[in-house]
Amino acid sequence: MSAILQVTDLSVAYGQIEAVKGIDLALNEGEITALVGANGAGKSTALLAISGLLKATRGQVLFDGTDLTTLAPHQIVGRGVVQVAEGRAILTTLTVSENLALGTYARKDKSGITSDLDWVYTLFPVLKNRRDGLAGNLSGGEQQMLAIGRALMAKPRVLLLDEPSMGLAPLMVQEIFRILKEINKTGLTILLVEQNVRQALRIAQRGYVLETGKVVLTGSGQDLLDDPKVVEAYLGG
Ligand code: ATP
Repeated sequence: MSAILQVTDLSVAYGQIEAVKGIDLALNEGEITALVGANGAGKSTALLAISGLLKATRGQVLFDGTDLTTLAPHQIVGRGVVQVAEGRAILTTLTVSENLALGTYARKDKSGITSDLDWVYTLFPVLKNRRDGLAGNLSGGEQQMLAIGRALMAKPRVLLLDEPSMGLAPLMVQEIFRILKEINKTGLTILLVEQNVRQALRIAQRGYVLETGKVVLTGSGQDLLDDPKVVEAYLGG
């Protein structure tokens, strides 16, 4: 397995407080990697440093021979490392299709854009049905779908997701995880940050457990699901 994205000794601080303390992660190409842990463990902070929205205080994020920590966020997106924002961050006063079009701002391949739009509408039929409606009228789960769809329209090579299941009803959570698996089947590499440890490890080929800014366990998704320490700490005994 070759790593498409390699994080080495990554540290991130908010002022004096170090939230991520020298973590190593390897994303294998074509796999879902889950980064799990409790509230405040540093998962979001690590993701924001990979996408360049936060500056790393130490370490490297190697992708395609470039250290992403030296690039600006839009350059990182341009290289194909695209984050779906937490809290959706869709534009509620624009239509669904206008939101999807925003994802394509850095692309020039018209025919690729058209076929990706078809693909996104196939993945999320509800977005197709409501493409001319305002994004603000979508439910929370539908807005999450739109946020994922918009990221896909940027033609990512690595998709980063921060808590896509947050605040959603159980059926919608199931649906989002099912679709992530389907997206991954096309070969897209995914880094999934989740507090929903069970669901995330079920769909992930590999997982990392973060506690107070450090990686404390790593293994295949299944190995972690079976690990007594994971069961006790995250899966309710
Ligand atoms: P959550 O699921 O709650 O987002 P997390 O694992 O993603 O948890 P982070 O949000 O990365 O954790 O937070 C890691 C640590 O950094 C926490 O102690 C948090 O209080 C702190 N932190 C996060 N954002 C800031 C900020 N803007 N300023 C100061 N401290 C912060």
